[in-house]
Amino acid sequence: MIRIKLAGGVGEHGRSSFLVEGDTISFLVDCGLLAASADPYPHLTKTEIQKLSWVYLTHSHADHSGALPWLENLGFTGTVIATRETLSQLKVQPRKSAVLGEEAKCHGLSVRWGRSGHCPGSVWYEFQLEGKTLLFSGDYLEGGLVYVTDLIRNVRADIAVLDSAYGPELRSAEEMRRDFLKKAETILTAGRPLLLPVPQYGRGLEAVLLLHKRWPDLPIYGDAHFQNQLKWAISDRAWTTPALREGLADVTVLPLPEDSPTVGFCFVSNPQLRTESQELLARRYVSANAEVLLTGTVEVRSGSWRLQQEGAALFSRLAVHSTDQQREELEQRNAFLKVIPFHTPDHPCEQREIILG
Ligand SMILES: [Zn+2]
Ligand SMILES: [Zn+2]
Repeated sequence: MIRIKLAGGVGEHGRSSFLVEGDTISFLVDCGLLAASADPYPHLTKTEIQKLSWVYLTHSHADHSGALPWLENLGFTGTVIATRETLSQLKVQPRKSAVLGEEAKCHGLSVRWGRSGHCPGSVWYEFQLEGKTLLFSGDYLEGGLVYVTDLIRNVRADIAVLDSAYGPELRSAEEMRRDFLKKAETILTAGRPLLLPVPQYGRGLEAVLLLHKRWPDLPIYGDAHFQNQLKWAISDRAWTTPALREGLADVTVLPLPEDSPTVGFCFVSNPQLRTESQELLARRYVSANAEVLLTGTVEVRSGSWRLQQEGAALFSRLAVHSTDQQREELEQRNAFLKVIPFHTPDHPCEQREIILG
């Protein structure tokens, strides 16, 4: 018998965490935090945590990995398994970890994975256990410009936990890109430079690719992390698309100046402007005529959120997740007996436990 507990991430944007308990095996898929919450941790008991042998991470973002130190403090002594890229991106290194594919094999559990197109190192998982198949898409996007996706196709699964983060959004990723460029054009036409707060690992590369392709002569500025990400993207062969490497080959990223330049694109590697210095920099730029353009979910009480509340930041989404429509297409291309959409308040959590047996 397999017991699956939706410990977080269903009915909410964050806290992704799924417990799988078999007759002899117990593991977790992701262990994320719910940002700006008084109770940000996965819904797991101490007994459940102490029984765990592994945590399989889909990727490094805090809403999938941020609760690992909490898990260890509550008695988790198992191994965290993830791609080499994901492990290297974690802010706090787990006490025990293994690179996906190099972990000690466990009798009775087979694991297959593919790249999920969401960020460097992100994967989906297909587990086989006790004659049942369990699929976890992780944060999943098909047809992205930047990261390669190994398409989930012809999978027969007893249960599939699928990214549906954008809910009823009707625009395709391509249409979102067009809207993003339109907004950027309006800002540039008004004679203003753009400040883009982007994740450390994620959609920042797509933003720079689109902007540079459209306005190749405008200067690009970025903090040290952003400069490193760009270098990584151009030399990587495993996670990024050839179109990205080609499109960015001639880009020079200048160091981000203390005060706003008069023209160009400025990248800060923190989508929420969480640190005081990042928020202050953004405010200095705004007073010097720059426009802040946010491209992903804004967390309440963050620096980005404050600027948005004050009318000092615009928003235009760049896709790194699936919509309901894309999730339904994925269902049609596979055979899933039970589907759990996750990563969105649009599909509330109706049942926290599922038994397969
Ligand atoms: Zn993510
Ligand atoms: Zn996520």
